[in-house]
Amino acid sequence: MKKALICGAGGFIGSHLVKRLREKDYWIRGVDLKYPEFSKTEADDFIIGDLRDPRICIHVMDQAFDEVYQLAADMGGAGYVFTGHNDADIMHNSALINLNILDACYKKNVNKIFYSSSACIYPKYNQDDPDNPKTSEKSAYPAYPDSEYGWEKLFSERLYLSFHRNYHMNVRIARFHNIFGPEGTWEGGREKAPAAFCRKIAEAQDGGEIEMWGDGEQTRSFLYIDECLEGVDRLMKSEFTGPVNIGSEEMVTINQLAEIIMHITGKKLTIKHIKGPLGVRGRNSDNRLIKEKLGWAPKYSLKEGLNKTYLWIQEQVKEKSHEA
Ligand code: NAD
Repeated sequence: MKKALICGAGGFIGSHLVKRLREKDYWIRGVDLKYPEFSKTEADDFIIGDLRDPRICIHVMDQAFDEVYQLAADMGGAGYVFTGHNDADIMHNSALINLNILDACYKKNVNKIFYSSSACIYPKYNQDDPDNPKTSEKSAYPAYPDSEYGWEKLFSERLYLSFHRNYHMNVRIARFHNIFGPEGTWEGGREKAPAAFCRKIAEAQDGGEIEMWGDGEQTRSFLYIDECLEGVDRLMKSEFTGPVNIGSEEMVTINQLAEIIMHITGKKLTIKHIKGPLGVRGRNSDNRLIKEKLGWAPKYSLKEGLNKTYLWIQEQVKEKSHEA
């Protein structure tokens, strides 16, 4: 039986990863500041701990692990990452976690380590045209991410690659592009666009109005959680270190994203465009490298993923209104 340590196992992707690896008969230890919010963890063992503390990182590796998945980060959607108000925390907290975890993996001789980087590392100057954003892996340099979150991810990618180069550590790095699905943050300020619009649309009365930051013509692609985890699994099994994009190539405008969700619900709502934090003008995943290296790329449609996510968020909204 393989043993895995999942850092950030109380978060959205981490808690889904626990479930997936349990299905594959792994023995799993999760670690996070908190337990998963929306369902009971399926990890065999779960430690509540702060990975900014190097002693905790050593402690959680008090036994041999075949694989470590490092997903813990101080992060959120545009409302958290792009306002500038959280920059110091984002950089300091996430950098400390990565420095500590990697050092502990080295000292404890961990066999294989996965690191979740982000599409936010790509240079702003390649993402000004909403119809033609560039995100091939090699376009990351010269570096110019549009947020401190992206700079920290880029620094940490380089940190993992340095340990790979100097200490021959077996690392895998993926750049996730907007992962979404049920049991993700859907309110409170850290939620991302798909969850935010599912919530707003679920809360609105038919014929009403929802607010959207910006003109809605900025483009993005969104990847359903199951496909993200399939990509992680394939990357871990491959001989390819990365970094490699794990994202969808189905690019839509944010207006289209909201319209797809409205279509799912049958509600007709007016979109009111207001000022707000936005990020780059356009972004899409470039899947040429993942196809070449892994012979695979995600293909699940955005609509299918939104269908499942909307149903889950609608339930959350209903439950909350009953509680109130
Ligand atoms: P998340 O915020 O749901 O999960 C991150 C988890 O890390 C949280 O549960 C949080 O409590 C935990 N954490 C934060 N600081 C910690 C600390 N000091 N000690 C222990 N745990 C700590 O985010 P997610 O969406 O599940 O993302 C997982 C990873 O994937 C992150 O590294 C994120 O940057 C990366 N990523 C996510 C996306 C996405 O669209 N969700 C896109 C690109 C990259």
